[in-house]
Amino acid sequence: MERVFNFSAGPSMLPLEVLEKAAAEMVNYGEAGMSVMEMSHRSKDFDNIIKEAEALFRELMNVPDNYKVLFVQGGGSTQFSMVPLNLLRNSKKADYIITGQWAKKAFTEAKKFGDVKAAASSEPDVYTYIPKLKKEDFRQDADYIYITANNTIYGTRYPYFPETGDIPLVADMSSNILSQEVDISKFGLIFAGAQKNFGPAGLVVVCIREDLIGFAAEDCPAMLNYKTQADNDSLYNTPPTYSIYIAKLVFEWIKSKGGVKALQTINERKAAKLYKAIDDSKLFNCPVNPEDRSLMNVVFVTGNADLDKKFVAEAKAAGLVNLGGHRTVGGMRASIYNAMPEEGVDKLIAFMQKFEKENK
Ligand SMILES: *Cc1c(COP(=O)(O)O)cnc(C)c1O
Repeated sequence: MERVFNFSAGPSMLPLEVLEKAAAEMVNYGEAGMSVMEMSHRSKDFDNIIKEAEALFRELMNVPDNYKVLFVQGGGSTQFSMVPLNLLRNSKKADYIITGQWAKKAFTEAKKFGDVKAAASSEPDVYTYIPKLKKEDFRQDADYIYITANNTIYGTRYPYFPETGDIPLVADMSSNILSQEVDISKFGLIFAGAQKNFGPAGLVVVCIREDLIGFAAEDCPAMLNYKTQADNDSLYNTPPTYSIYIAKLVFEWIKSKGGVKALQTINERKAAKLYKAIDDSKLFNCPVNPEDRSLMNVVFVTGNADLDKKFVAEAKAAGLVNLGGHRTVGGMRASIYNAMPEEGVDKLIAFMQKFEKENK
């Protein structure tokens, strides 16, 4: 079977060059005489891999020096607990903007640990837009403000980030990390699970401003304390070594493509042509507020659940797979992360046009 164009929301496509490099090095890495999987996490070879991964991430994302970059495990969802456990440090208040299921899960988790409030929610409108809040809309004594930068399930993203003054802004960037330029200095903390844009599931990158480290309560589990991870350069225990190695290969790939800015240009072009095809069509419709449309997850429907199913099945037969919407929302969703070649988007558009002709 040939490789398909995989529009899965996550785990999702990785660049073919990365997979091929990993395959070539799988059994014997460099001069090591063993696979990266078999290597001690304290070995010189692995030390080089994790240091290189961090250096590349810093370079690609332009991470300021007063931020730590941590590689941790537990997926994006473990951050839903780590963020409140570590950052509810003074008033124990935090304000969340609810823009989808991931934000809601993070909010529900954080409520266990403090006075956590929903500053706004687009749930009544099925999360089809991003609420735009101003500084005054947040509690001024909040310890942090939490957003989901890109909403994987509903296909929205923040076109610009809220101004929060001195209150640290925390963002879940699981589904748009490394896809567009971001000014990290505007955030107290960002995190991203790897499986959407840079590697295998389970691995998470956390980028945290140093002055926010060290405030977890005494009884915070060591593994969930950013200080433990920061003091040990992400090597307190055995980190997900192979996943960090794959992440490093993806970072190298991004650099070889000209970096995040170059990928952003391609991502904008890919998304723009797909949205245009949807907007031009009489069959397909995108329910998302135009200003807030995601560059990564493009949601669309025909308005007829049976026709949606037919579309997804016929697309699959044509080598365009995983186009079904999230199990809770139905319809279609094309996830077009960094690794989705422009050719995949062009094929999808051609397929949509053909399908529309055949199903008038
Ligand atoms: C996928 C996703 C998560 C959850 O990640 P897990 O690694 O499955 O825990 C969290 N937030 C966003 C925005 C996501 O897309």
